[in-house]
Amino acid sequence: MFTVFIIGLICAIIGSIVAKNKGRSAVGWFLLCGFLCPLLLVLLALPPLHSKTGERKCPFCAEWIKSEAKVCKHCGRGTSMTSSTE
Ligand SMILES: [Zn+2]
Repeated sequence: MFTVFIIGLICAIIGSIVAKNKGRSAVGWFLLCGFLCPLLLVLLALPPLHSKTGERKCPFCAEWIKSEAKVCKHCGRGTSMTSSTE
């Protein structure tokens, strides 16, 4: 009985983390995966909510910006550089 509880808890925690990374409700998926562990697989198969084409995450503030953007509109840092930062 205790083992089942632990497995459910682990599923719930993983589910909430994955859900958060995909821009979904962490609390909702925490409960769903806690009660029904197979839902974790469903969640993993789901595409991220923010996966709009032409957008990517700012490496500094983790906000979503246009992939062509040279400067992040949220934190104002340059995003397209990997070489010239001297
Ligand atoms: Zn930013």
